[in-house]
Amino acid sequence: MRAEEEFDCVVIGAGVQGSFTAYQLAKHNRKTLLLEQFLLPHSRGSSHGQTRIIRKAYQQEFYVQMMEECFKMWTQLEKEAGVKLYRQTGLLVMGPEKSEPYQLIKNTLQKHKVPTVVLTQDNFNQHIPNVRLAEGDGALVEIPAGVLYADRVLRTVQEQFQKQGGVIRDNEKVTDIKPGPLVTVSTSAGVYRAKSVVITAGPWTNTLLAHTALQLPLEVVKINVCYWKEKVPGTYHVKQHFPCFIQTECEETKEHIYGLPANEYPGMVKICYHTGGKTDPDQRDQQRDRSDIDILQRYIARSIPGLIPEPAVVESCMYTLTPDHDFVLDCHPTYNNIIIGAGFSGHGFKFGPIIGKLLCELSLGEVPSFDLSPFRIRRFQANTKSAL
Ligand SMILES: Cc1cc2nc3c(=O)[nH]c(=O)nc-3n(C[C@H](O)[C@H](O)[C@H](O)COP(=O)(O)OP(=O)(O)OC[C@H]3O[C@@H](n4cnc5c(N)ncnc54)[C@H](O)[C@@H]3O)c2cc1C
Repeated sequence: MRAEEEFDCVVIGAGVQGSFTAYQLAKHNRKTLLLEQFLLPHSRGSSHGQTRIIRKAYQQEFYVQMMEECFKMWTQLEKEAGVKLYRQTGLLVMGPEKSEPYQLIKNTLQKHKVPTVVLTQDNFNQHIPNVRLAEGDGALVEIPAGVLYADRVLRTVQEQFQKQGGVIRDNEKVTDIKPGPLVTVSTSAGVYRAKSVVITAGPWTNTLLAHTALQLPLEVVKINVCYWKEKVPGTYHVKQHFPCFIQTECEETKEHIYGLPANEYPGMVKICYHTGGKTDPDQRDQQRDRSDIDILQRYIARSIPGLIPEPAVVESCMYTLTPDHDFVLDCHPTYNNIIIGAGFSGHGFKFGPIIGKLLCELSLGEVPSFDLSPFRIRRFQANTKSAL
């Protein structure tokens, strides 16, 4: 056991959100400790793997506005660290032309003047060969969208944090949090006291919040991360300008299906279903629901004929869903020096830099630089239970 140490801020959880928050705090000259229960890097949370989609294609304007600043922050981090974190591929959005989700995405992109090309049934295959656009589906390409190199992002931001004087302690699980003017955080290896604590524990958020008499309406689901083999290698490769894509709904499901061009595993395209079976984060691999894979197989056989409709590789990841799929970015309702960043609902990675900035602002008691009303805990009021 180490002697009790004091920090300005302790951040719990070194996924993408905790890492960016710690980095921002260190940049603001705060003595910051980032705690992680597993040895880094690890593949048991939500931030592992090689790639994530970055896009502005959202139905809600507040996400587009946040992404406007966030794209700049990604570029700034690339420059600061001298590392490439983003590759532009474009994002193809397909969905029933007259449906609300498709129309809202299209209108929001156009309203915010995001460079976008709208495709027609007639010219679709000139631009996107080897994909069948369903009858009645609209299609557009958001040009600046692309791929973030997720593993590299985590490595980079954690290194930058340490360069600013930040301390990372991995393989150190937080076992207790005692609120107070100085919060006491106990771990498997020590006890720390801090002026503020940020909880960015992904699927384990409610386990930690239980120490503070709060439970949020979060649901953890396991995602089967599926890679599909090309029949002819190179057909859907990033070098062939195959874009990332989102199918908002289709004949097989009302849920999103999304994919990224072949790049990370030779000859394989990552295509996933945007939800999964409920799981306990410590028992993730006991969840063996494959109904999502059945849906993906039918979708791929019908729409992406150049892929073998049988997943060649299946990996695992988790989403932490809120009821409205919007994030939680807020102070604890009882203890305003405990800050919560949670419920990223399977779409939080691209926002990492801006989430880090906002959680840093909350932890410093500053006015947040974006309107956080969509992300406040009070929106769940009826579902927010006291754990006592
Ligand atoms: C398959 C998949 C595809 C995705 N695709 C995209 C995409 O294309 N674009 C996009 O923007 N987003 C995407 N996302 C979502 C994005 O990856 C997540 O929103 C994001 O990674 C959440 O990060 P986090 O830091 O909140 O959680 P996590 O990465 O889970 O981090 C939480 C950390 O807290 C640690 N922790 C928990 N409890 C304790 C404790 N007691 N003590 C110490 N440490 C603790 C955990 O070990 C973990 O490392 C995807 C997610 C998945 C699973």
